[in-house]
Amino acid sequence: MRNTPDISSNSITETPQERRERFLLEFEKPFKCEKCNERFKKKKYLREHKTEAHSY
Ligand SMILES: [Zn+2]
Repeated sequence: MRNTPDISSNSITETPQERRERFLLEFEKPFKCEKCNERFKKKKYLREHKTEAHSY
């Protein structure tokens, strides 16, 4: 495993490719569920997910 001391503890093990993929993912699906960290392309999908998966 590589050590990169100048990067914060959050993303030490990420390769540049993984970082890029994560960036694209966050760009494409900006709506994240706070409860299970699932991502959605549209706010509507997130709302529907919350209703189905986290309804009380
Ligand atoms: Zn969720």
